[in-house]
Amino acid sequence: MRHFPIFLDLAGRRVVVSGGGETALAKLRLLLKTEARVTVFAAEAEAELRVLAEEGRLRLVERALGPGDALCAALFYAANDDAAEDARVAALARADGALVNWVDNLGASQFITPAIVDRDPVTVAIGTEGAAPVLARAIKADLEARLPAALGLLARIGKGFRAAAEALPMGRKRREFWADYYFADGPRTLAERGAEALPGALVALLDRHLSEAPREGRVDLVGAGPGDPDLLTLRARKLIDAADVVIHDRLVAPAILELARREALLIDAGKKGFGRAMAQDEINRLMVEHAASGAHVVRLKSGDPGVYGRLDEEIGALDAAGIAWAICPGITAASAAAAQIGQSLTKRDRNSALRLLTGHDVKGFAEHDWRGLARPGAVAAVYMGVRGARFLQGRLMMHGAAPETPVTAVENAGRPEARVIATSLGHLPGALEAAAPEGPVILLLGLAPRAAEAAAQTLAQELA
Ligand code: SAH
Repeated sequence: MRHFPIFLDLAGRRVVVSGGGETALAKLRLLLKTEARVTVFAAEAEAELRVLAEEGRLRLVERALGPGDALCAALFYAANDDAAEDARVAALARADGALVNWVDNLGASQFITPAIVDRDPVTVAIGTEGAAPVLARAIKADLEARLPAALGLLARIGKGFRAAAEALPMGRKRREFWADYYFADGPRTLAERGAEALPGALVALLDRHLSEAPREGRVDLVGAGPGDPDLLTLRARKLIDAADVVIHDRLVAPAILELARREALLIDAGKKGFGRAMAQDEINRLMVEHAASGAHVVRLKSGDPGVYGRLDEEIGALDAAGIAWAICPGITAASAAAAQIGQSLTKRDRNSALRLLTGHDVKGFAEHDWRGLARPGAVAAVYMGVRGARFLQGRLMMHGAAPETPVTAVENAGRPEARVIATSLGHLPGALEAAAPEGPVILLLGLAPRAAEAAAQTLAQELA
């Protein structure tokens, strides 16, 4: 970022513009929105400039700018549409100590003017450092359409009520009051009863918020399922929709986060700063802090929260802080992956038990009951297993597993971009390397996709 955006207080300050044509007028239309004292130097001035001068909105000096003319100016615009003249006046203004903008000459300017969306006192400034004016215009058009025209009016009237709103305790209570004003009661009152009704509506709204009993904060530990919003439980959907704060893992798909309310605070606990996800202690602290202030917190985890989700550590922290919690189960990756390949996780006469394994744990590659896992017909779902695939293969074969044992890796199970990699224990590491998955992968040990299994059985019957 070469240009640092700030909002400059121009009330009563001097701003000088050199130029009397359309370029100068374009800047003046923006400058005249401020409370600056604007002086224009122009040897030849457009009629519109004269009108503005006659209306007293600016001072027009009908000659070229000379030394000392920009003294005490906060800002100076060289807007003559004439490179030689702009260079001359820019040098003079700089000598007078003003910050100089040479219109359409980024390199020679000390500051640049952004594209502005004006809902005074709400102002949005958009800059691209000259890289893409088209983009700035598109963003401006988008925001102009999105921000209600009455936003400025709501904000001006709201501003006058800030002292009264201090009757509410600072933090969430007060935020909720303002959220109701800006997103619900304010726009509704304006539409139904007009601006005069706004102060009365604010008083009524404040009364309502003051008399509300303080809410108890709580934490719901919610399973977000494998990623597709359709695979959320109805309860998860309701909880996400009602949450004040959503603390989510990296694997929770954006389409699910979209379901949170616009005002909800979204915290990405899987965000990798310096190559590491947020520490568990930090997550615990955030949950406790928000719930203690009365917020309804949703701790959103991929799949089922009780499967490799460090659920007990979080519950321990909540219990220690005396905060109410509940678990909302979700569809775990193993279920989603089995569904993807048309298989059942357990099957009469094949496997009456199902194991969930992790490929690696905090101490490195995880050890398991390899003998049991190596038995024919054993089925296991291996989470976080890609990196440990070679280790897994070695251990299982060492304990007598057949190299032909089917293994199916499912990437992005339960999502539209799902990919199935059907292989065998003997070929597992090579198959994974060749597939080079980028999304989350679960390994289904002992299961082949139903279609492939059926084809293999037909072949075996034919050979017999
Ligand atoms: N609580 C989660 C598991 C978290 S551990 C659950 O119940 O599913 C993270 C691991 O889960 C990933 O490394 C991957 O092995 C697996 N996983 C999560 N979502 C997955 C998905 N959509 N497809 C395949 N594997 C997934």
